[in-house]
Amino acid sequence: MANADQDSWSRVKERLRADVGDDVYSSWFARMDLEGLEDKTVRLSVPTRFLKSWIQSHYAERVLACWQAHDTNVARIELTVRSAVLRSNVAVKPRETAPVVNGHIDAGRMNGHARPLLPADAAGHEALGGSPLDPRLTFDSFVIGRSNTLAHAAAKQVASAKRTDPVMFNPLYIHAGVGLGKTHLLQSITWAGNATGERKVLYLTAEKFMYGFVSAIRTQTAIAFKEALRGIGVLVIDDVQFLQGKSTQAEFCHTLNALIDAGRQVVIASDRPPSDLETFEDRVRSRLSGGLVVEMGGLGEELRFEILKSRVHAARAHHPTFDVPQPVLSYIAKTVTHNGRDLEGALNRLLAHSKLTGHAVTLEMAEREVRDLIRPQEPKRVKIEDIQRVVARQYNVSRSDLLSSRRTANVVRPRQVAMYLAKTLTLRSLPEIGRRFGGRDHTTVLHAVRKIEGLVGADVALAEEIEGLKRQLQE
Ligand code: ADP
Ligand code: MG
Repeated sequence: MANADQDSWSRVKERLRADVGDDVYSSWFARMDLEGLEDKTVRLSVPTRFLKSWIQSHYAERVLACWQAHDTNVARIELTVRSAVLRSNVAVKPRETAPVVNGHIDAGRMNGHARPLLPADAAGHEALGGSPLDPRLTFDSFVIGRSNTLAHAAAKQVASAKRTDPVMFNPLYIHAGVGLGKTHLLQSITWAGNATGERKVLYLTAEKFMYGFVSAIRTQTAIAFKEALRGIGVLVIDDVQFLQGKSTQAEFCHTLNALIDAGRQVVIASDRPPSDLETFEDRVRSRLSGGLVVEMGGLGEELRFEILKSRVHAARAHHPTFDVPQPVLSYIAKTVTHNGRDLEGALNRLLAHSKLTGHAVTLEMAEREVRDLIRPQEPKRVKIEDIQRVVARQYNVSRSDLLSSRRTANVVRPRQVAMYLAKTLTLRSLPEIGRRFGGRDHTTVLHAVRKIEGLVGADVALAEEIEGLKRQLQE
């Protein structure tokens, strides 16, 4: 494909991002690729059928408009599902194509696709409409450390509760950054809960929830879908931050209420606390905060070491000669700080390397193999409340001053600094930041950001002050 096409695509993506906001963009478009541009047709691909149907029904015209703003020749967008990494026992799926002509979808060509095959023990769960489970993600392989003790205990409690036990906390809401074990814990609950046979546990990704719901509406079996959901004892929903759209969220809220009122357990995982689910309505957020909200912190070095050790142990079931000396484990635990996925990646490379070359794993080899996984200290997730608190303290004003409409100089500057920090240290969009600062308009936030950006160039004292605040917030 011509480089010029990729350039155009980069620009169109930027426009799209500006158009829909960072959150929506990263939920739906981050994994969209340009496949080609021929004649008047732009061919784009996404990794899942769900993403395709969601983008087609909600954003087809937007995407087309963004292209047309860049290139007036473009008349249609064609969206395909790329056959991505496939589970080993799944037949290669042919590409599906459903053309979007001037924003209209040719529905006749949007037909079903073969479902992937699954291991037999997961099939029961799948038949209920649940998302596929990874057999490795169980309580046995979950390593407990300081950052996840509470979440683990709560998860265990949920998994082992009897049908007749009173529900202790509902919903159980677990939040943590990427790769810190949310999915692992949720799938552990599902495996363990279903193994006891006490209560049926259904694990759904947010995508599956939406896809089930959206397609149920299309085929008019919404009632059946709801009935099926209500027939289960524990509903587990992963990555709830991806639930988008008013009707999906409304349905989610109904389901939540129905289950909780009927004494069924709900477990939710998200990358942020309920109060930060910006697109959700207040009543949904408060319902989500109404049970037990637990945060899992970063994996400390000790925990990383233990996870690596248990991983090596598990790998040896299939590769008995695989051995990683303790100094290598310590080295990886110390340097690969990012998250659980990178730890797994690091070990996979050592395993592959030692299998392919027949050499034993040494520190030197490890240093070479995992070099690109070593990152500078992972920046902390900064919350807007923390920014407001720290800035208020620094300038000796109250947090409510920052949110108020007061326009005296001693409040205006700290407020601008706080908005600037919110924009630079979080992924929140301008409108969201405005909302969190007493319901201000996004243009006010933009003005504040530009103002401070302009000032730090010239005012060394202010620049240092801001660096100091950033350090405080990221420590
Ligand atoms: P999340 O859903 O929070 O993004 P995952 O649950 O997918 O993260 O975890 C990422 C990887 O790290 C997985 O391979 C998981 O097994 C591993 N992992 C994370 N925390 C732990 C833990 N406490 N014990 C064992 N493995 C863990
Ligand atoms: Mg996850």
